[in-house]
Parts: sequence; structure tokens; C-alpha cells
Amino acid sequence: MKFYKDHYDVVIIGAGLAGLSAALQLQQKGITDILILEKHNLPGGLATSYVRNGIEIEATLHEMMSIGTKEDRLKVGKFFDACGVDINWLRVPEAYRFVETSKNIDITLHAGFEKMAGEIDAQFPGWGPKVLEFMQLCNRVYDSMNTLSVTPMSKPAMLMKHPDFVKTAGYTATEVIDTFNFPDKIVDILTPYWIYVGNPMSTLPFTIYAFLMADYFRGGSYVPSKYSHEMSLKLQMKAEENGAQVEFCQEVDKILVKDGKVTGVRTRRGDTIGCDYVICGAYPNKVYTQMIEPLSEVPDGAIKMVNGRRLSVTTASVMMVLDDTPENLGIKDYNLFSAETMDTDKIWEEGKTTGPYKYLTSICLDLANPDATPEGMCQFSITTLPLVTGFLDLKEEDYYDFKRRMAKQMIDEYEKVSGINLHDHIVEIEISTPVTVAHYVGAWKGSIYGYSHSIDDHAIARLQMKEDDHFIDGLEFAGAHAISGNGMGPAITNGRAAAKAVIDAEAKKNS
Ligand SMILES: Cc1cc2nc3c(=O)[nH]c(=O)nc-3n(C[C@H](O)[C@H](O)[C@H](O)COP(=O)(O)OP(=O)(O)OC[C@H]3O[C@@H](n4cnc5c(N)ncnc54)[C@H](O)[C@@H]3O)c2cc1C
Repeated sequence: MKFYKDHYDVVIIGAGLAGLSAALQLQQKGITDILILEKHNLPGGLATSYVRNGIEIEATLHEMMSIGTKEDRLKVGKFFDACGVDINWLRVPEAYRFVETSKNIDITLHAGFEKMAGEIDAQFPGWGPKVLEFMQLCNRVYDSMNTLSVTPMSKPAMLMKHPDFVKTAGYTATEVIDTFNFPDKIVDILTPYWIYVGNPMSTLPFTIYAFLMADYFRGGSYVPSKYSHEMSLKLQMKAEENGAQVEFCQEVDKILVKDGKVTGVRTRRGDTIGCDYVICGAYPNKVYTQMIEPLSEVPDGAIKMVNGRRLSVTTASVMMVLDDTPENLGIKDYNLFSAETMDTDKIWEEGKTTGPYKYLTSICLDLANPDATPEGMCQFSITTLPLVTGFLDLKEEDYYDFKRRMAKQMIDEYEKVSGINLHDHIVEIEISTPVTVAHYVGAWKGSIYGYSHSIDDHAIARLQMKEDDHFIDGLEFAGAHAISGNGMGPAITNGRAAAKAVIDAEAKKNS
């Protein structure tokens, strides 16, 4: 039996969220001759779960951005709806509780600009209106970004219609926040989400920060009731229903290129499959150094580009099943950000090491999803998002000891900050590191967010450089490593953008 056709319009490498979203976007525009090749035996990439002792455990997702409420759907939520991918979204109860030990800060914020401003006002009387003003600025920039990403505009029109976007573009998050003269503690309270875009505030573009803050605080954040894998499975099923061929355990080894144009792919199994376009979930670093065949087809510019880009954060995570309910264990927060300091430059330096890590995100899934774990138990994870740097010198023979030490340190730190005993309640535990990520999905150096958004290289700059950064005809990238960067929502957006590039190229060819 022949496994593949000789030729497809589009081959998608990787059935992660980005690759699957690319397929659905293509199908919506009538491109249906699609082959998706996934090296793992499941869809979803990092959007996955695993089973221990009969209990399904979320592997990654803390919260999805850009979903929004049913009445005010945001970009990613709208996409799922439009594709007919019906996800049972559960709203995360609070934005975050934030504890900064060195400054005695302990505050819980909820979504809704007025609500969170009111919560800050309750601890810092009189500052609520100024916080609200700040959040409204973030929201205007957010709206402008959403408009401008689909409606290109002349500079004068942009200046007239999107003055706050224009005014704040080119400034860092710190520079814009400083103009509000908030007390230090309020600045710290407005900072914890920085890690979700993986760049210190001092060099993080305000535009990116504003997008993040407005998105999370406007519509709240969500998790699917059947874990992140619900998204993966339903996207895969819908892509297949719409006619795509999806094959698992099929790693693409080479992308075949002739005279600057994609001609097909070759799998590790040895199948050569022709195609007009490749949408690629593997990192450009890997593609341009190992996957293009022949390598002489890789232009110098591509190597310069990947060498010039700075990888964003990776992850170290301790995932546990605990033997009691959150209530009985005293766990009240879905999402706790805890830190010794909120100086993000210092935390960034800490992130270049193998710890001890003090800036932690702790999640109790059952507080958003009461059915997540069998009755009388709950699942709890502690995560830090370091750079890969510290892990590069780790010796293979020290790896398992290191993982145990790291997990113990992170659990100890959480227990110290929260006063909650986890150690005596752990029935299952798994520890993931950049090595796990690199091994499982093949992400370059275990990166999870793609490339970092700093003031000299971020989504908007990359959008403007799109043509210059496009090196091989017919090759598009879809993943957290593409233009928008970081996280599941942006990976989906990037998948759709890659599909749009293919749709536009096809339209140009046929015009
Ligand atoms: C612990 C942890 C917590 C996280 N928490 C959140 C969160 O709360 N919110 C959030 O938005 N994001 C979170 N993320 C990040 C998020 O998981 C990723 O950014 C996102 O899932 C990336 O999606 P992707 O499609 O770009 O890549 P991936 O999920 O890595 O998918 C790529 C797919 O391509 C396949 N592949 C790669 N190379 C090949 C090849 N050569 N041939 C065939 N197949 C190939 C891989 O097997 C994989 O299935 C977290 C990540 C981790 C690790």
C-alpha cells in the first residue's frame, strides 16, 4: 500500500498547535491538499498531557491568552469558533496572586480593568484611577495592534487613528511605566506577567507588554476542560475532517530545495514527497543548519538571521499529583507568582544559571478545572522559565541528581512563601527541563517561546522585516519561533500567518 501521494500542495511539518492551525486556516481558504507529518505518536507538541497511575496530568498549559468571554471573543477564541472547533473553555479564577517577599507585597488581582485597579487601590489608596488610566492605555495599544496586524495603514493615517500606539512604540515597558510615577510596589505588582513574553522589562517593548496586560486583564485567561490536549486533538480531528492527511511517527529529515524554491520533503523513513509549499514547525536554527537539502541552498542571510536572534526562555517545571483537595491542603490560588525581588534584570541573570530559582509560577489546575483530578486529589505544578544557558554544561551523569535537587529547591521555595506543605502529599511527580522539551518536540535548545522580544528585535520589527527574512520560496515557518513569538496563543497566530503567506503566494501565482 502506498503511504503518501507523490505530491501535495502543502506539507506541514509538525502537528503542534501552530501546524494544525495553519492547516485549518488553509482549509478555510480552499487549500485542502495538505499532508501533516508529525514525528511523535500524538498531536499537539507541547500542548499535551500524560498519564501516571491512571491520572491524566496537564504537561504545560497554565493559561491561554486571547480567548475572551463568549460575548467578547478575542483573536484565538474567534479562530476556534470560526473553524467549528468547540472547546469547553474554563475561566481561570484570578489573574494572579503576587507575593514579593523582600517588599512584603501580597496581593491578588482579577481580570477586568476596573476590578484590578480597585484591588490595587484597596492596598494603595488613591492610586486606582492612575492604574486604570495605565490599563486603558495598554488596551488602546492592544486594539491598535489587533487592527494594524490585519489592516496595513499609511503612517499619517496611523498617527491620526492610533496615536497611543505610535507614541509608545519604540519605548520599553519600564520607560512608559515610569511616566506614570507609580510607587515601586505598584510597578512590581504590574510586572509578573513579563515572564510570559520572556524578556526583562528594561528592554521589553512597551507594545508587547501592553498587548500582554490588556489581553489577560481584559478577557481573563482560560484552560480547556480536557487539558491543552483537547485543543490539539480537536484541531487534528477538524483538519482531517476537512480533508488533510495526518501521519504520526513520521519525522521530516530534509526539506528539499532547488534553485531557491521548495520542491518537497524527505522523511527519516526515507519517503520523498513532492510539494509546492512547506509550513515548518521546526526551529529556523535547525532548518537552516541541518534540514535544507542541499545545504548550499541556504543563503548566508538565513544563517546570519538565526545567529542574530536571541532565544527566549525555556522551562523547568515540577508537576505533582497531591493526595488531598486544594481546600484541605490550604491552596487558595490558581496562579501564584512568587519572587524575592521583581527586578527583572536580576531575575533574568538568575535564569542564566541552574538555580536556585526564586521567581516561580505555581498553578493548582483543579481551582479552574474541578474535575481535573480524581476526587480527593489535585494537580499542582511549580514552574520557572530560565534561559537554556545554565543547562548547557550539565553533564549527562549528573542530570537525574540535578533534576531532583532542582525540584526540591522549587518545592521548598514554594512552601516557604506559601506556608503550605506539599512534600508530605505528593503521590506522583514529574520534573521537566529544557532537555525534556528538546527531546520531546525537538525545539532548538529546549526553547518554548521562540525568540525573545527585545526593543531591537520584536514582533513589529520582524513584521516589517518579513520580506527580508524570507529566504526560500515556498518555505514558511509556523511555531512559537515565528513572528509573534511565545506561548500557545501566539503559536496559533503564527500558524495562521504562515498559512496566509501560502494563500497570498498562491493568489499571486494564479493572478
Ligand atoms: C512547562 C510549560 C508551560 C507552558 N505554559 C504555557 C502557558 O501557560 N500558556 C501558553 O500559551 N504557553 C505555554 N507554554 C508554551 C507553549 O506550550 C508553546 O509555546 C507552544 O505550545 C508551542 O507550540 P508550537 O506549535 O510552536 O510548537 P510545539 O508544541 O513544539 O510543536 C511542534 C511540533 O512539531 C513536531 N516536529 C518538530 N520537528 C519535526 C520534524 N522534523 N518532523 C515532524 N515533526 C516535527 C514536534 O514533535 C511537535 O509536535 C508552556 C510550555 C511549557 C514547556
